[in-house]
Amino acid sequence: MRYELGADTLRGARIVVIGGGAVGAALSYRLAQAGAQTVVVERNYAGSGTSGNSFAWLNGFSKTPRHYHRLNIMSIRDHQDLADELGGSWAHIDGAIHWEPEDHQVQADKMRRDVARLREWGVRVDQTSPELVMQELEPDLWIDPERVSNVYVVPREGWLEGVTMAHRVIHAAIVRYGACLERANVTGFRGSDAAVSGVLLGDGRELPADVVINAAGPEAGRISALAAAGLPLDRQIGMFFTTAPAPVCLNHVVYGSTVRMRPDGLSRIASHPEYLDGHAVEGVLTSVMDPVIQRGREDAEAVMPGLAGVPVEAVRIGVRPMPRDGQPIVGFDPQISGLYTVVTHSGITLAARLALLVTEELSGGDTSELEPYRPSRFAANLLS
Ligand SMILES: Cc1cc2nc3c(=O)[nH]c(=O)nc-3n(C[C@H](O)[C@H](O)[C@H](O)COP(=O)(O)OP(=O)(O)OC[C@H]3O[C@@H](n4cnc5c(N)ncnc54)[C@H](O)[C@@H]3O)c2cc1C
Repeated sequence: MRYELGADTLRGARIVVIGGGAVGAALSYRLAQAGAQTVVVERNYAGSGTSGNSFAWLNGFSKTPRHYHRLNIMSIRDHQDLADELGGSWAHIDGAIHWEPEDHQVQADKMRRDVARLREWGVRVDQTSPELVMQELEPDLWIDPERVSNVYVVPREGWLEGVTMAHRVIHAAIVRYGACLERANVTGFRGSDAAVSGVLLGDGRELPADVVINAAGPEAGRISALAAAGLPLDRQIGMFFTTAPAPVCLNHVVYGSTVRMRPDGLSRIASHPEYLDGHAVEGVLTSVMDPVIQRGREDAEAVMPGLAGVPVEAVRIGVRPMPRDGQPIVGFDPQISGLYTVVTHSGITLAARLALLVTEELSGGDTSELEPYRPSRFAANLLS
């Protein structure tokens, strides 16, 4: 049976998903589950792109407007559902702890505004004190009670193991629903100027498709350009580090302007102080002994004294796919039929929800939640 767009089923549809990151993985699973003949094309390994090099905080904390906040919050729930469905433990939704020192007045005021807005929008945010956090929640943290008056805990935040999630979810798409993973580089499109009908691979093969989904993360602009389509997407580099296994416990994500840390598995701590991003250079490895990394290690030790003497094990660099207006780009290309884009910052948080919504849309279902994110909103300056 030939797939028709908007039909009330995906059965028979041939869909190629370019990219095996968190976004492409979740998409391939939900599409295959809905009956599509799904092929994921990944030039490297699952999660090898930004998803495996991300701070990976699952959150909706500062996110506005309300529809975008809601998309993030719903996606955290959908991640839990997906992990439960597959018996996985890559989604750690154990809560996040937020604080700002009162002498950082601008940041402290912003945090209070964020908390007030979250509560207004129905999100549970608990208020506590540095002393109680150190006694009850995170005994290995040091939060200076002289400088910090309020600490906020958001129970439905957490972090995601990007590589594990991408690998396990693609694997499930293959073994449960007959999807395929092609380890290949997409180098072009089949079809005409106005319509794509599949992809060309670097090894000379062609994969036919009714719909090609561009989920190539920070490479999505380059993929669009292969079809002569414009995508208003910037690439924004980021850098953080992980420690060696450390004699500390950390159960929550810890987030504020002076500290950004989370567990990283097997007793490691990941730390992403805000200033590191400005020192990252794409394609250049930063040494664990670089002075800025060592400064980051000392700053981490200041809030977690048990890190004394624990070396930095790895510096991680990733490139954020950053749509020009900061909001996801999801939908069919306005000029080229058959080409569908799913690219977003916060793709770790959003992958699970976007996969459900895109599958719903391609099955002919309700699309209202995706309407604010259509590529056509850039129509006037799409190619700029
Ligand atoms: C330092 C840092 C911190 C971040 N913090 C957070 C955070 O706290 N919370 C959050 O939600 N998000 C965060 N992000 C953003 C988030 O990580 C990304 O939005 C998300 O990982 C994007 O996922 P993706 O699947 O779209 O892209 P990717 O994970 O990059 O996947 C795209 C895949 O496409 C493949 N590919 C590319 N070109 C081709 C081609 N021609 N042929 C075949 N395959 C191809 C790549 O190999 C790659 O595996 C952060 C990012 C960085 C860098």
